Amino acid sequence: MSLGATPNGTRPGTGALVIPPGARVLVFAPHPDDETIGAGGLIFHLARRGVPVRVVFVTNGDGYAEAVAQDFHELKPRDTDYVEFGEIRRREALAAARHLGLHRGDLVFLGFPDGGLAQLWQDHWSRTRPYTSPYTNEDSPPAPDSAEYDGQDLASLVGRQLRTFRPSVIVIPHPYDAHLDHAHASYFVIDALDALQAAHVLPGPRTCCPSASSCSPTSCTIPPGRARGATATGSRPRPARRPRTRSGRGSI
Ligand SMILES: [Zn+2]
Repeated sequence: MSLGATPNGTRPGTGALVIPPGARVLVFAPHPDDETIGAGGLIFHLARRGVPVRVVFVTNGDGYAEAVAQDFHELKPRDTDYVEFGEIRRREALAAARHLGLHRGDLVFLGFPDGGLAQLWQDHWSRTRPYTSPYTNEDSPPAPDSAEYDGQDLASLVGRQLRTFRPSVIVIPHPYDAHLDHAHASYFVIDALDALQAAHVLPGPRTCCPSASSCSPTSCTIPPGRARGATATGSRPRPARRPRTRSGRGSI
């Protein structure tokens, strides 16, 4: 993914983001609203310029206990309340995306468990050990798909988005974000990207381009500060440790 270039003389990480010509921009939002709060301005301007943009929502945001209790006037919301709340947030994301200039086909909802991405990464990587959401009581996404709530399936779906869209720019939360869903959404993206680049399915990593005119759309991520103020770093953040074996008999 390519990245925004830092203007000459500007220290990496502090310069203005420059999207290279021919860019394809893939935004990963852990929850509905992260795309708007973190990258709404960027998406709006890119959409107006006709730049291909896809937004992938990793969860439906269905584990927001306080909001569910308030919206449904329930001290102890039921599983179905959480599911319905996720559907409300999904529809809100669709409406917000329209305002940003995107179409339904530009959006992907993976439906993984809100509040559970760290669990998938650390303790439920294997397909033999799916995670059950304590909110919805579901262990698989709502969409008709064979995926279940486990790290392998999420990694596979994230990799599919990277392979099919072939982005030149990827927008992800800061990997050091204090919200575990945000940080781990980035880990999944970075991990899948590393695997695809190592297999030469996607172009190899590139560091920041010295200038927009010399920047060809290959690869680089936008991590810190999300897209706000747009930072460009030359090194890829290191994902946290996860189970040593993907076959999954226990984690370390
Ligand atoms: Zn979020």
